[in-house]
Amino acid sequence: MDCLFCKIVSGKIPSYKIYEDELVYAFLDINPDSNGHTLLIPKKHYLDMNDIPLDTLTHIFKVAKELKVMLEEKLNADGLTFIQNNGDVQEVKHFHLHLKPYHKNNDIKDVKEIYETLKDRD
Ligand code: AMP
Ligand code: ZN
Repeated sequence: MDCLFCKIVSGKIPSYKIYEDELVYAFLDINPDSNGHTLLIPKKHYLDMNDIPLDTLTHIFKVAKELKVMLEEKLNADGLTFIQNNGDVQEVKHFHLHLKPYHKNNDIKDVKEIYETLKDRD
């Protein structure tokens, strides 16, 4: 299957990975709306909210809750927004949850710099 996010999970396309377990993979959005903009995806290919099984969705939100805390703490965020697109508003047709940290000072930095910040403070 010719799916961008499946290729990211398999390593065929590089990504700024910030978390991985047996079921999910999280990486920085290449075109971020905010510093630390993260995409959390199931490793298995599911199209959207209709397609994804409830147990996988539950696990995604368990991880999302943990990543939210990590991103807010490490990036000193003032808030965080979750977004999940379906249908015509979904650009990449592999289920993904956006985690968008909010900073009062919306000074967007390079993705690589944010990745280094997240990596360094482990
Ligand atoms: P959506 O509109 O919800 O389908 O969002 C897709 C997101 O994937 C967008 O925010 C893109 O910037 C992001 N994106 C596309 N290609 C890549 C990539 N190679 N690595 C990381 N993020 C990507
Ligand atoms: Zn896929």
